[in-house]
Amino acid sequence: MCMVVTRFAPSPTGHLHIGGLRTALFNYLYARGAGGKFYLRIEDTDLARNSQEATEAILQAFEWVGLDFDGEILYQSERLEIYQRYIQQLLEAGKAYYCYMGKEELDALRDSQRAQGQTPRYDRRYRDFKGTPPQGITPVVRLKAPLEGEIAFEDGVKGAVVVQAKELDDFIIARADGTPTYNFVVTIDDALMGITDIIRGDDHLSNTPKQILIYQALGFKLPNFYHVPMILNEQGRKLSKRDGAMGVMDYKSLGYLKEALLNFLVRLGWSYGDQEIFSLKELLQHFSPKELNSAPSCFSPHKLDWLNAYYLKSTSNNQLEALLKDFELPSAFDTLSAQQKNMLLEALKERAPTLKALSTEITHLLIPPTTYDPLKNAAEAKALLEDFVRALKNTHLQSLESIHTLLHNFLEAHALKPGAFMPALRVALLGKKGGIDLKQAIFILGNQTHTRLQAFLART
Ligand code: GLU
Repeated sequence: MCMVVTRFAPSPTGHLHIGGLRTALFNYLYARGAGGKFYLRIEDTDLARNSQEATEAILQAFEWVGLDFDGEILYQSERLEIYQRYIQQLLEAGKAYYCYMGKEELDALRDSQRAQGQTPRYDRRYRDFKGTPPQGITPVVRLKAPLEGEIAFEDGVKGAVVVQAKELDDFIIARADGTPTYNFVVTIDDALMGITDIIRGDDHLSNTPKQILIYQALGFKLPNFYHVPMILNEQGRKLSKRDGAMGVMDYKSLGYLKEALLNFLVRLGWSYGDQEIFSLKELLQHFSPKELNSAPSCFSPHKLDWLNAYYLKSTSNNQLEALLKDFELPSAFDTLSAQQKNMLLEALKERAPTLKALSTEITHLLIPPTTYDPLKNAAEAKALLEDFVRALKNTHLQSLESIHTLLHNFLEAHALKPGAFMPALRVALLGKKGGIDLKQAIFILGNQTHTRLQAFLART
């Protein structure tokens, strides 16, 4: 079997969207899983719409998620001579021809076709032209498309695709200024790069018959095509920014882990039994484009959060601390001991779906409260808290055990059930009822415990 060679071929018109990343991921997994090659090609021939920043944004996103590609990046803007050579070859072989029809003439033809209820289409008038070309017109180059028959291919996702030749006209492969057109450059590059499998969005499905005609005209071997349906929102409509159609790096800023995002994206259009969580190793083992789904997939923000929470929980505290550097944390975080940090992350990572949410939780815990939930029997609670402050003075809050003993002895000495004191202690320390285990909170707060209780007592 020949080696699998795939590519991702973005047009650098903005940042890399999650739909683009999904396409890249499918191509990456297929090639890497099969021990083949994965290339990156920047389709930057449309100088008016492309920018260097957009290319850099794509590379930045690739680097973040860890998609590595083989060889050098290929830039179409640097390959004009190559494309022109192939245009020349087709002209010389009589498989393409110069068309001298000016824009006005073409518009007039289209108008009259429309008026007669026909599909507007170039009428091939220069296909076999042998005369003297009209003056003052720089010609375009058109491909001699077959006049009859059909263009058929087996799409790995859509199944058999058949287009009648008469539905295609002799389309332009080089504009009047000599620049090659989109379908032409894509085909030349895919052929010269030895791409064996093309996985791309089904918005490109209508380009494929034209590309196939170019492959055939040049005698290139056809690759396998897989056209994947779009990602829709939960209402089955096109994904908008609000639904999650953001740039890949926006997900990083929102605190998603790359593992979660990739796991999430791979399941949008591909499945392996009912497995939801995949390590990269498993994906490389199991992914096959043959199992890509022909129905559109649905973007569920809830599922992304669920996956992210899963990956956050399985991230070591050291790694979490490193990842949290990209998020705002109060300075108190840096003064915590290693054990306190460990306890803090252990306690809070269970409660946050994203790194951003985790940083917010940490901030809430480490910044002293300014408002407090109301207490039942406030006077009694205050008296108990004053006693507790005294007990606290003689205790080192060095372990959960010492905190447990302190609380236990305090409750026993006052003949109290936990429910009669702990809610007041919690509100005095954290401002709120609810939240993490109180012993853990006291351990994390350390000396702050004392300061916070006094601040609470001073204001009531
Ligand atoms: N440049 C095209 C795009 O960004 C992709 C072309 C292809 O995959 O064939 O949509």
